[in-house]
Amino acid sequence: MTDADDLRARTRALLADRPPATTSRADFLAARFDAGLAWVHYPEGLGGLGAARSLQSAVDAELAAAGAPDNDPRRIGIGLGMAAPTILAYGTEEQKRRFLRPLWLGEEVWCQLFSEPGAGSDLAALSTRAVLGDDGVWTVTGQKVWTSSAHLARWAILIARTDPAQPKHRGITYFLCDMTDPGVEVRPLRQITGEAEFNEVFLTDVRIPDAHRLGEVGEGWQVARTTLMNERVSIGGSTGGRESGMIAPLARTWRERPELRTHALHQRLVTLWVDAEVARLTGERLRQQLAVGQPGPEGSGLKLSFARLNQQISGLEVELLGDEGLLYDDWTMRRPELVDFTGRGPGYRYLRSKGNSIEGGTSEVLLNIVAERVLGLPTEPRTDKDVAWKDLAR
Ligand SMILES: Cc1cc2nc3c(=O)[nH]c(=O)nc-3n(C[C@H](O)[C@H](O)[C@H](O)COP(=O)(O)OP(=O)(O)OC[C@H]3O[C@@H](n4cnc5c(N)ncnc54)[C@H](O)[C@@H]3O)c2cc1C
Repeated sequence: MTDADDLRARTRALLADRPPATTSRADFLAARFDAGLAWVHYPEGLGGLGAARSLQSAVDAELAAAGAPDNDPRRIGIGLGMAAPTILAYGTEEQKRRFLRPLWLGEEVWCQLFSEPGAGSDLAALSTRAVLGDDGVWTVTGQKVWTSSAHLARWAILIARTDPAQPKHRGITYFLCDMTDPGVEVRPLRQITGEAEFNEVFLTDVRIPDAHRLGEVGEGWQVARTTLMNERVSIGGSTGGRESGMIAPLARTWRERPELRTHALHQRLVTLWVDAEVARLTGERLRQQLAVGQPGPEGSGLKLSFARLNQQISGLEVELLGDEGLLYDDWTMRRPELVDFTGRGPGYRYLRSKGNSIEGGTSEVLLNIVAERVLGLPTEPRTDKDVAWKDLAR
């Protein structure tokens, strides 16, 4: 059985074989993947060693101490946090071998084509249609919206309706969509920050071979739930050490600018500091308890606290800075490669955090999930559960 000592020894062997100082980033990352040290809990041959997920930190610490390059996880967050665990759970061997390596190496960026103008919280109501032709190729037509990173993506995870005669949760199928298909059109959507980090995506007769279907026809909702539960854990958690997460910029400003401090602000800062640390440690424990890629509804609670705290913390930072906090660094319309909370100014953090209670499931919807699936409270009335999707009022 692989343990922490064994993983440290393997990591040192990798570092001796490919010293980071003299090895290109791409070569180092490829060697790391092939040595099973990319995500140690994945199976052998797919970047892992079938080890406990909690042992990843032993590898990461050795690599960080040696100055080894990483795969820029913030740039490829949707691939790492959502596409990969879903492909691992539902993909064929061929799909796993084709997609997981370039995904982890960052050679292929992924985006998530789930939300539609008429289907956000009620995602299962989606209308994008996929029809299977005699040639074994699906033709997909519809519109998706709020698609983060679609302008950078080579592949997308996509859900579409394949049987309108079934109730809404049952007639959906999950696909891996090639974003270079001529039927895919990506248009920027500018946000409150001034930037366009997400997009609307128009799909017109997009062709997807049946080999790029993930899971069974009509079982896409079940597959999508794996993605959504992983999304909540990946949005809600920070993976660094003490004071490394959402509280870091506010704590730094507090330490570096004593002239801004007041007693009342101090009380609020300490309360938020404690809450943020509790959320960080809870996230760490949750991640360690996860079986391979299968978080439960507790991830919804984590994401819920993250959204609330990040908004309160960024609000306090702006307040602490007074007039200075009202300055905004740059309104230029940009197409950022990643969401960078710590490398940007307080105005950006304040505005960008507004989306935290919407993306990856709104806070109201997550409260429903926690109420029903964690606390066991009675469920909301669902009158459309057994009605064919085509007969639902729209
Ligand atoms: C920054 C950002 C990035 C995003 N990235 C992506 C992406 O990459 N891919 C993707 O597919 N989507 C993405 N989204 C979309 C996101 O998942 C949806 O916006 C979200 O699910 C809410 O859907 P909606 O916008 O249609 O709002 P609606 O579902 O219309 O909700 C409107 C309001 O009604 C409330 N509400 C709805 N239903 C209930 C209920 N049952 N009980 C109580 N209240 C309810 C909601 O909480 C909300 O306040 C992103 C969104 C944001 C903000």
